[in-house]
Amino acid sequence: MSESISQSLAKVKERIAKAARAAGRDPADITLVAVSKTHSPERIAEALAAGQRCFGENRVQEAMAKFPQLRADHPDLELHLVGPLQSNKAADAVATFDVIQSVDRPKIVRALAKEMERQGRRPRCFIQVNTGEEPQKAGVAPGELSSLLELCREAELPLVGLMCIPPVEEPPAPHFALLRQLAEQHDLPLLSMGMSGDYETAVELGATHVRIGTAIFGERPKA
Ligand SMILES: *Cc1c(COP(=O)(O)O)cnc(C)c1O
Repeated sequence: MSESISQSLAKVKERIAKAARAAGRDPADITLVAVSKTHSPERIAEALAAGQRCFGENRVQEAMAKFPQLRADHPDLELHLVGPLQSNKAADAVATFDVIQSVDRPKIVRALAKEMERQGRRPRCFIQVNTGEEPQKAGVAPGELSSLLELCREAELPLVGLMCIPPVEEPPAPHFALLRQLAEQHDLPLLSMGMSGDYETAVELGATHVRIGTAIFGERPKA
């Protein structure tokens, strides 16, 4: 018998708190984003019943299908987009999410700014940085971050922080340290880093948002 979502959540939160205290940080400064992609609304409702309010999805369409009813039941729910965004989905993304963590190129910046203006909704944004400079991975290269930030300021995008997904085959700590350094350099207060396998390291290195799926909901069905 596997543990319940409420038990898994309690464990994860305890480990975040422990890692925070060990690093001299206040656990309250770390937001747990429960990544619910592929999981059913029923399982998300279990997490809501256990007090979780912040969720992450990686597909706009999937979030639009799952979340309207959950939001109606829990108006204080906060939804983050953590997956890659296509510019033709910018309108849906602005309408659906409270936070967009995957801004990574000029075309997306312009599309989001235009939609925010049109809809009068302003989801907070993170820029995703491809810290490992992996060719197949989303995110702006560290060397191109300054110019993308400049464009975000011109477009008045509500930018709050940086996000990264380190290469799977490398130790994550140097990537988290780099992300933190970039955020400090550019005066951005928030850092989204750390997943099920490495979130304690991320907390130690300054994460304000950890994105955790498997450790809360269990293994995802293979696509
Ligand atoms: C799926 C996903 C996560 C969660 O990964 P787990 O290893 O299941 O915790 C975090 N961030 C992003 C961007 C993801 O797509």
